[in-house]
Amino acid sequence: MKKIYLYGNWKMNKGVGDTENFVNGLKSEIDKRNGIRSMLTSDKLEIVIFPSFISLIKAKEAVCSCNLEDINVGVGSQNIFYKESGAYTGEISWAMLQDIECMYTLIGHSERRHIFGESDELISEKTKSALENNMKVILCFGETLNERENGDTESVIERQIVSALQGIDKENPMLDRLIVAYEPVWAIGTGKSAQPEDAETVCSFTRDKLISLLGSERASKCPILYGGSVKPSNSELLIGQENIDGVLVGGASLDPVMFLDIVQPFAL
Ligand code: PEP
Repeated sequence: MKKIYLYGNWKMNKGVGDTENFVNGLKSEIDKRNGIRSMLTSDKLEIVIFPSFISLIKAKEAVCSCNLEDINVGVGSQNIFYKESGAYTGEISWAMLQDIECMYTLIGHSERRHIFGESDELISEKTKSALENNMKVILCFGETLNERENGDTESVIERQIVSALQGIDKENPMLDRLIVAYEPVWAIGTGKSAQPEDAETVCSFTRDKLISLLGSERASKCPILYGGSVKPSNSELLIGQENIDGVLVGGASLDPVMFLDIVQPFAL
């Protein structure tokens, strides 16, 4: 069975106390579910939560004190800037994240692109800097409803992936730290997930693009996640697709029971 990636983007939810409660809840749910525990310990499942900046340290501490870090449960940030330090009010750097051993970051989430106006150029700077500085990058991309209805899905996705990786030599081993997430904007937070076959069509297109950009060996190892209204009732068919290695989950990642239910069908 393939390795499954279960990533939870909490967005602007959960302060410090709720973060600690979540991690304790996750630990007791994992203890009740032998199948999920053995997937984690045998590296067939990787879980990463992405709390708000203010809750990152608590999340790290709680994950460590519950011994979850030893079994493939990690913590990542929802955003990152491309400079190490300096006059960049409101931003956070890879150096600060590494100070608390937080080694994962989302980049290019649709809310960053569409609400906060992040450009392809900025996302490219962030992607390069984070990869160069040992971070594991989850590069998010996806089309709007308008772009889909105009038949532009593939060209938008190609532009977003190519621009983010522009200037990186395909032989550069830092690309082994790249994870990508296809998140159609119209499916995020709407309750309206993509049909599994439609998600697979775009993820297979993504794999082909990655092959041309990174070479087939590296591209075949690059996890491709799907995100957009994933929940326990639709996850099995989505994760069952050939080119979908896991899911990036928003709303359904806020509760440990619902979050783990997303991968429960794959636990023996
Ligand atoms: C997300 O924030 O990346 C996301 C996919 O959200 P939701 O699962 O709520 O659609």
